[in-house]
Amino acid sequence: MSVAITFRGYDFHCHIDLHPNPPGLIARCEKEQIAVIAVTTTPLAFSQNLTWTKDSVYVHAAVGLHPELVGERYAEADMLERLIAGSRLVGEVGLDGSPQHRASYGKQKDVFARVLRAAQTHGGRVLTIHSRRAARDVIDLIEQHSDRNRVLCMLHWFSGSIAEARRASEFGCYFSVNAAMLRQDRGRALVRGLPRDRLLTETDSPFMTLNGRKASPVDSLNLMGELAETIALDEISTRNLIDANARHVLNFAGLL
Ligand code: MN
Repeated sequence: MSVAITFRGYDFHCHIDLHPNPPGLIARCEKEQIAVIAVTTTPLAFSQNLTWTKDSVYVHAAVGLHPELVGERYAEADMLERLIAGSRLVGEVGLDGSPQHRASYGKQKDVFARVLRAAQTHGGRVLTIHSRRAARDVIDLIEQHSDRNRVLCMLHWFSGSIAEARRASEFGCYFSVNAAMLRQDRGRALVRGLPRDRLLTETDSPFMTLNGRKASPVDSLNLMGELAETIALDEISTRNLIDANARHVLNFAGLL
């Protein structure tokens, strides 16, 4: 709650609860002063994550239902909607248009629209959103069901087109960028095309692999140099930029 809080890194999309020792990792983030949005993949996992993070200044739990799980866990959407009433942070939510999740795509759209409407009703909600092979539908639903003054949307590991990214940024969306994106030409071109004041950092750990091992939120500390090089800005200015963007998001969620 102090305005004087120092952040050394920002991991705005991380699956703390899928790491081997979540309480130990939370303590490490606290020690390293890394601000973390700890997403969940099912609403049933949220209360445990809240318990783990309740005394943490740096790690904050988000309630979610991963689009890849909507097919088998559609019934949990009611619980998700109820929990959004009590959580300023929401994620992982969104749509996945990959062939293996195509059968549940209609249900995914239904759940994501309900999430956006709940967030819009309560206001001051920050969402971290999955949009693989579904960028256009994700942006359409954001536009239809929410407005930027009440819901702040972060598109995580965005892989749509530059035109789609620009359109999303016009609706107020932020983008959390990870090392895997910065190590591909396509990802770098996308990041360069985004408004700088919408850039954030993430690891999506433990899903993202870095140098042959599973990433951790601690890797967010090393992201600034690669990001600075990508956007052709010096490292100190990049750090200050991400700090300002991240504080805006945390403040929107009432966390600063
Ligand atoms: Mn994820």
